[in-house]
Amino acid sequence: MSAAGPPQGANSTPSGGSAAAKPPAWGVPHHARVVVVGGGIAGASAAYHLTKLGLTDVVLLEQGRLTCGTTWHAAGLVGQMRATRNATRMSRYGIELYASLEHETGLATGWKACGSVNVAKTRERMQLMRRQMARARSFGVEFTWLTPQEIAQKLPLLRIDDLEGGVWIPGDGKANPTDLTQSLAKGARARGARIVEGVQVSGVSAHNGHVTGVQWTSGDARGEIGCEFAVNCAGQWAREFGALAGVGVPLASAEHFYLVTEPIAGVATDMPVIRDPDGYIYFKEEVGGVVMGGFEPVAKPWNVERIPERFEFQLLPEDWDQFEVLMQNALHRMPCLETAPVKLLLNGPESFTLDGNFLLGEAPELRGYFVCAGFNSSGIANAGGAGRLVAEWLIGGEPPFDAWDVDIRRFAPLHVNRRHLADRTVETLGLHYAMRWPREELSSVRPLRRSPLHDRLRDKRAVFGTKNNWERANYFLPERESEPAATLDTPGWLAWMLDEQRACREDLVVFDQSSFSKFVLKGRDALAVLERLCANRIDVPVGRIVYTALLNARGGFESDLTITRVAANEFFILTGTAQTTRDFGWIESHIGDDEHASLVDVTSAWSILSLMGPRAEALLSSLSHDDVSKAALPYGTTRIVDVGYARARAARMSYVGGPGYELCVPTDQCVTLYDALCSEGTRFGLRDAGYYTIDALRIEAGRRAWGAELSPDETPLEAGLAHAVAFDKPHFIGRDALLRQRERGVAKRLVQLALDDPAAFAWGGEPILMNGVPVGEITSAGYSRKQGRIIAFAYARSHGHDAPLTDTMIAGARYAVDIAGERVGATLATARR
Ligand SMILES: Cc1cc2nc3c(=O)[nH]c(=O)nc-3n(C[C@H](O)[C@H](O)[C@H](O)COP(=O)(O)OP(=O)(O)OC[C@H]3O[C@@H](n4cnc5c(N)ncnc54)[C@H](O)[C@@H]3O)c2cc1C
Repeated sequence: MSAAGPPQGANSTPSGGSAAAKPPAWGVPHHARVVVVGGGIAGASAAYHLTKLGLTDVVLLEQGRLTCGTTWHAAGLVGQMRATRNATRMSRYGIELYASLEHETGLATGWKACGSVNVAKTRERMQLMRRQMARARSFGVEFTWLTPQEIAQKLPLLRIDDLEGGVWIPGDGKANPTDLTQSLAKGARARGARIVEGVQVSGVSAHNGHVTGVQWTSGDARGEIGCEFAVNCAGQWAREFGALAGVGVPLASAEHFYLVTEPIAGVATDMPVIRDPDGYIYFKEEVGGVVMGGFEPVAKPWNVERIPERFEFQLLPEDWDQFEVLMQNALHRMPCLETAPVKLLLNGPESFTLDGNFLLGEAPELRGYFVCAGFNSSGIANAGGAGRLVAEWLIGGEPPFDAWDVDIRRFAPLHVNRRHLADRTVETLGLHYAMRWPREELSSVRPLRRSPLHDRLRDKRAVFGTKNNWERANYFLPERESEPAATLDTPGWLAWMLDEQRACREDLVVFDQSSFSKFVLKGRDALAVLERLCANRIDVPVGRIVYTALLNARGGFESDLTITRVAANEFFILTGTAQTTRDFGWIESHIGDDEHASLVDVTSAWSILSLMGPRAEALLSSLSHDDVSKAALPYGTTRIVDVGYARARAARMSYVGGPGYELCVPTDQCVTLYDALCSEGTRFGLRDAGYYTIDALRIEAGRRAWGAELSPDETPLEAGLAHAVAFDKPHFIGRDALLRQRERGVAKRLVQLALDDPAAFAWGGEPILMNGVPVGEITSAGYSRKQGRIIAFAYARSHGHDAPLTDTMIAGARYAVDIAGERVGATLATARR
């Protein structure tokens, strides 16, 4: 392959190159409701959607010129399929927008619905694709399977002799990133937005925790714009720009490559986009040649310390060594590249996040400060949906649907550590095309957060996974066994996990659940705050635990958690490991200025050991002088008790079902407590157990999990949790919506299903069919030892849009689960109301 010629074509530097932008002698107002910072595709889309939704007092400030950051050099692939229904809905919306924008603004977007072909080289990849496409069908994405021969007919330049097959997605396409951005900007301007280039935002002012303005500079000029909202669309600068206002935006740049060839005979202008994930590469047609790029498994972070302030229409030096792995695979897949003259090996920086997903929404640190960044090389495809989501969120005050997978609140202050970001970025860029095995754990930046028991559990052969960077035991390896390989089928650890289940149901296990998020709310008005926020009644005697939902105004779950009243004006709040930032922010933001209540995050101060199983009381009694019997400590209550030398708050309750205690102990006594339990526990058959067991048993016990069965899109009536709603309370957030829904009836309801075929294995996310029609996906699945098969939660939905779903409809329906295209019958286990 020969390298020659200057960069040209649709992605080349716009005329003017890295021109110094003209000073904005005019155009920067003194006030605007919203200031959008950054004029890449994200900023243009945010401004477009804000104005489209009627908020027209918008100013967009760009330090260079529109698109000059990362957007101008993107390859422009636009695909629809993403991991979840809502994310796919967002990207499909983007495609509709890109296809129609020219008609609205008069500026072309370069949108071309050329479709895409994804090919699979291995049996496992094909199996993964079948699972993904089962979901695609359920999401309404059109596709057709292709044999290797059909791939060859469609794409004669591809080598197919080692392919298992592929899939054709006709609705996918490509766009010109620069034209698209200009078109969005024109649409925004037409509705009143002001877009000013050559102006850098140098600071954000705030008062009482709310944005009040931004400072700007341009050459020698400087000034301030008073505003209610700032939207950080600063691309790879978003982390540093966020830091100016104390907002954590955990993203880092990595070098990202594609190669552009001169025209090649046989490359048709309507050639579909080709993705070969096993080779980490993609191809698209451009000006009769080929653009070939990809996502190498070991990436190269760029300038994680500090992104240069001026980096307009610039690229990074070629790095053929880094590109080698992609190049080799490309030459194999498209042999004609061997002799094609290369115009350019483009190397441009792009932002990547810690989990490969975007960073959207209102920052927990500052009200009125929104982020729309961290696109992991899919910002062109997703800016349409992301800009709309952020605009709706800003205007409506909350996300319009469950957006947890892209919500910036899934991260915490620890995540902006630059070494963490750099080391994780090496791994996350490659996730784009990597085989994603179910329950696969990322391997970089580990261990980071450790319970005091970490080393003890490691020595007992725990296999750890992570959540919110906490190392947590997933299961325990028996002696002489080694960790089984990842699979899409029945996993090698199943038998060991089932033995943990047996111990929990028949003897006794201990789970280290120290990673739970924990807060204390204290003060004269603490009860009033919680009564307003919680759907359940919180005014209970001291020592009682209440399970409750925190609802939004639509009646959807912002969280579900337990609250222990530890004193008249003091409450201990226990919530999910992943939700620290989100739940803390939700509760804190609802404490009125005139209310006397303070919230403290005590996650690291307390550890939690769950002692579960029929012999729990016997063990605890043998270690304590306190009475821990059912009479002294009934279900749903707590007491401070001695356990060995430790003092712990024992709560009689169980997430996994069956008898047991949660022991909440100061972190400095955690090891002492654990050692006491273990030394005495041998007599009672005590063993350690992990999160896979917790998850399977909680499904068996009918316990819902936030982030799976519960989200802002589901209400307690739909989730079968009406019993935890105190409708007789005169007021709590979400009450009115629930009352209306109760009146109307619900159109979807959580059901528990058991797969008819004991050998079938579902992991979660598989579509379910009700009377042959896809109605949703499995929210959680686990193998139940008791039932000898997979049991799962899923939402049944009525087909008549909002028509109520009755008991008779649920009980009378036929259920099936689509596992990689195979329909497996399922039987209704419960349909709680
Ligand atoms: C090689 C390569 C190929 C790619 N291919 C694709 C693809 O095929 N499909 C796809 O979907 N995505 C692709 N991407 C990713 C895509 O380009 C990005 O996700 C997207 O462009 C990000 O847009 P953005 O608006 O967030 O960032 P940017 O385009 O970088 O915009 C941010 C802007 O903010 C401005 N700014 C920063 N700080 C300030 C400040 N303080 N004041 C004022 N202005 C400021 C910057 O000057 C910049 O213009 C690719 C990326 C690369 C590098």
